Formats: sequence, structure tokens, C-alpha cells
Amino acid sequence: MIFHKTGEEIERIKKSSLLVGKTLAQVAKIIKPGVTTLDLDKIAEEFIRDNNALPGFLGYGGFPNSLCTSVNSAVVHGIPNDIPLKNGDIVSVDCGVFMNDFYGDSAYTFEVGEVSKEVKDLLRVTKECLQLAIGQTRAGNRIGDIGYVVQNHAESNGFGVVRELVGHGLGRSLHEKPEVPNYGKKGKGHKMKPGLVLAIEPMINLGKKEVKQLDDGWTIETKDNLPSAHFEHDVAISLDGSPEVLSSFEEIEKVLITSSFWNNFALSSICISSLYNLLSVLRCLLIISNSIIVFGKHFIKIFII
Ligand code: MG
Ligand code: MG
Repeated sequence: MIFHKTGEEIERIKKSSLLVGKTLAQVAKIIKPGVTTLDLDKIAEEFIRDNNALPGFLGYGGFPNSLCTSVNSAVVHGIPNDIPLKNGDIVSVDCGVFMNDFYGDSAYTFEVGEVSKEVKDLLRVTKECLQLAIGQTRAGNRIGDIGYVVQNHAESNGFGVVRELVGHGLGRSLHEKPEVPNYGKKGKGHKMKPGLVLAIEPMINLGKKEVKQLDDGWTIETKDNLPSAHFEHDVAISLDGSPEVLSSFEEIEKVLITSSFWNNFALSSICISSLYNLLSVLRCLLIISNSIIVFGKHFIKIFII
């Protein structure tokens, strides 16, 4: 059954969704090489509980943690562990909270240190897929319209679209009807109406679309072991039929921009300090060479006399 929410219910989902964004911003603050995904999980769980909410994933279907942390070729449902993240990794962090009887569910793929250009392109295109999908989430459109734009944009950029995992309705349950595939045909599927709330979540692979499940019973990984990206927003269809994004990446991206500024600042400071050291060495060499010249002149004078 598909549940259509009242304005008051949508407001409650929005509060949960925004708390997910703030939780992911806490995660963003500490992501760097050397940190483990268990560290991320710990900080997220504490933050969610400090905000009088419950981690939505912990114990859901037996899942052991508060975050799904999927590194590089892991697509979704990765279990946090004590392996340190490395420079050049990407980690998709999916987070759910339960508060005031409603769930929020959002995901962001983070870069760890410096990642390759092809991986940066994958992240950019996956985020663009999410924006295009949101643009299709309006009354009168069909679920197939969402999948169509995601598939078309991802595949036209040479990436693979995961078929086995899909977005979903969101509300009092974490996973409600309808399913929201990231592939499809225009004009096909369920017709959307005001009050529908969807978690839209493109899962896009750098290589082929095929995935496999690992022996841990949770982690979904690409079959070709190439990286995969995942971004997720909660979107409601308003009374006027237009999409309202309930979750937010704003807090996350504020943290990422600030960290990038300070990293660049630190790098510039190192460069300035290296330049200063180089100039000091050159100055010393100049003084030494002048001294040699002066000494040489005196020596010649003494020798001639
Ligand atoms: Mg999610
Ligand atoms: Mg979801």
C-alpha cells in the first residue's frame, strides 16, 4: 500500500531527514586517511542519540551498526569495520534516523584525501543524476520518469546503473511502497500524487552495472571491483505538485568546503615556509661567496706585497 502524508507528517519526516544531514556533517568533519569506518559509526550514533532520536539502521533486519559505510567497490550496506581509510578511497555513508514516529534516510559519498579524476567524475555525475531525479518527482509524473533520467544521464557518461537495489517510499517505515528504480521508461509505473514521500538514491558504478553480495550477508559490491557512488535525498510532493527536498547536503558541504580551505591553507603555508628556507639558504651562500671573494682579494694583496 502507498501512504500519502499530510503536511504535518511531512514536517515530521523533514525533521528526521535534516537530522540525518547534520549527522553526516559530523561524519564529514572527521573523514580523512587513517580514520576507520567504525570511528564514523561511533560519532554518528552518539550524535543521533544526543539529538533525542534513534539510529534508524541499528538492528533493522539485524544490521549491526548505525551507518552503512561502503568503501570503493562496495555499493551499499557496508558494515563499519576497523580498517583505516586510505588516501584516494571513497566511502558512501548511508544514515537513517527515527524520530517522532518517522524515519529520515540520506546518503553521501565522501572523498578520502585526493581521489582520481575518473572517480571525481563518477561522484559528480551521480549527484547530477539525483538532481535530475528530483526534477521528475512531481504530481502527474510516473516513477518510470525518475528512473529514465537517472539511467540516461549515468549511461550517457559511460557508467553502470545498479538494478538490484532501488529507492523507496519513506514514512513511519524505513522502506515503504513504491519502489523507485534508477532505471526505467518514461510514462511507465506508478503515477505520483501530492503527499508522496520518496527516498531517491542513485547507485552508479564506474564500470559495469553488475553487483554481488559478500559473505557477510550485507555488503553489496561491484562484480568488476571498480568504485561505486551513492547519493540519497528524501523528497516530498507538495500540495501544488512540485518536489520539496526534505533532507539536505548543505551542512555536509559547508564542512567539506571549510576543510578544503584549511588543507589548501596548510599546503600554502608549507610552500611559503619552504620558499623562505630556500631564500635563507641562498642568502647564506651569497654571504659565504662574498667572504671568499674578500678573503681572496686580501690574500692576493698580501702575496703581491
Ligand atoms: Mg539510505
Ligand atoms: Mg534509502
